[in-house]
Amino acid sequence: MNPLRKEIEELENTLYRKKEELKRLEENCHHVWGDSVYNPETYYDQVTDGYEGHGSDFYPITRRVEKKKSRWSQTCTKCGKTRYAYNQKAVKFEPDFGN
Ligand SMILES: [Zn+2]
Repeated sequence: MNPLRKEIEELENTLYRKKEELKRLEENCHHVWGDSVYNPETYYDQVTDGYEGHGSDFYPITRRVEKKKSRWSQTCTKCGKTRYAYNQKAVKFEPDFGN
């Protein structure tokens, strides 16, 4: 057997064990969340610019565009886990003097 296969198998096992270890650590952590950071998520969307052809040979002209979705993140200062939020809520009220 190619020694590289054995090495890859061992590394995959190690990776699996480390991920499980990190998962347990995150589950048992009493998270202390750091500051909220605006951290928009990048995603790709398909837009149609028009159509070409005629009859049964009719197809849309599309292109892939990069878009951003509003998102905020916080990272735990103890275990390093990051959590994400896609919505905001009002957290403070002030007297409204009308100016
Ligand atoms: Zn934590």
